[in-house]
Amino acid sequence: MNKNIPFLDLVSPHLQLEDELISVFRDALRAGKFIGGPAVEGFEKDFALFCDAKYCIGVGSGTDALRFALMASGVKPGQIVVTVPNTFIATTEAISQAGASIGFVDIDEKTYNMDPAKLREYIETQCKAGSDGRPIHNKTGQTVSAVVPVHLYGQVADMDAIVAMARTYNLKIIEDACQAHGAQYFSKKENRWRMAGSIGHAAAFSFYPGKNLGACGEAGAVTTNDEAMAKTTKMIRDHGQAQKYYHDIEGYNGRLDAIQAGILSVKLKHLPAWTETRRVAAKKYNEMLQRADGIGTPFEGEGSKSVYHLYVIRTKRREELQSYLVENNINTGLHYPVPLHLQKAYECLGYKKGDFPVSEEVAEELISLPMFPGLADHQQKYIVEKIQEWQFKL
Ligand SMILES: *Cc1c(COP(=O)(O)O)cnc(C)c1O
Repeated sequence: MNKNIPFLDLVSPHLQLEDELISVFRDALRAGKFIGGPAVEGFEKDFALFCDAKYCIGVGSGTDALRFALMASGVKPGQIVVTVPNTFIATTEAISQAGASIGFVDIDEKTYNMDPAKLREYIETQCKAGSDGRPIHNKTGQTVSAVVPVHLYGQVADMDAIVAMARTYNLKIIEDACQAHGAQYFSKKENRWRMAGSIGHAAAFSFYPGKNLGACGEAGAVTTNDEAMAKTTKMIRDHGQAQKYYHDIEGYNGRLDAIQAGILSVKLKHLPAWTETRRVAAKKYNEMLQRADGIGTPFEGEGSKSVYHLYVIRTKRREELQSYLVENNINTGLHYPVPLHLQKAYECLGYKKGDFPVSEEVAEELISLPMFPGLADHQQKYIVEKIQEWQFKL
């Protein structure tokens, strides 16, 4: 029973598909096709279909996807792109590397996603209206041109409200869907379910191995319904060329490997089933943890189907809980312990503690429990037992 419970299992799912995955490699060797080609185009088609988006452009990573999508959406150096402080730094790296400045707004206490009311407050109290309807920041005079809602832990942000605001203020929306492959959101305005990655002007996905759909290396994708966005993103990922050696702009080397694309196509077929097992496991955790005092379980809104990239609980004493679980061979994660506005890398932005109180509070209280397809019932029971045992000792 005391066998180690990993936070994430990256071995078993690949061993189950070992023959198929190895034949992807063998096919690439025999075809001599490593960059671009039918494997990449095939995956792009499949993933666009999966996301209910018109176009998918495979790129080198989720960070590439964010950066390229921002650039292709017309974000210019000197403009502001607004996002949240409780995300992985790739979100803001992409904003800076697209030449823009980072604007932060705080999150919703329940969903941990961007609070649309805070976005409104940012625009209405810190900005004045510019000539094209876009907000201009009072202090810096910079134009706010885009917003990046992060679908954190696998749950889509409150997109109806964010889309409405983006329409009013002429902002582009780039969804950070790096943790939300297959997540769904019920749009009350449209009276239908929408897939993550099909709602904004474009979206960024990561296929880092630990993500819900992971490559066996680095990979990512941009999805969009906008043909011009798709065309520009394709050029940016490939040195600014649509035709070899004719460069309309300067771009990047940010293409998707053929081998990774082939691997992703094999794994994509299993993603709906894997997502279902994550949702079932989340439900089991929720039920079992109901009796645990002082432990907050994830909130999933009525109009939301989270894909539980992470199963994150909340407690005032998470360091103690984490040590106790480690002593009992249970591995957990912290996502994320330091909000971005308080990171050393962003000291230059001049933020201080207290600027984004909700993000700061949850950064100190959240702890992610083991969550992956293949997490067994008895493992979940053991984890919850240990959490309850820890509570009795308090
Ligand atoms: C993983 C992740 C990224 C970056 O993706 P990479 O493929 O690692 O570059 C960006 N944003 C979020 C929220 C992520 O979880």
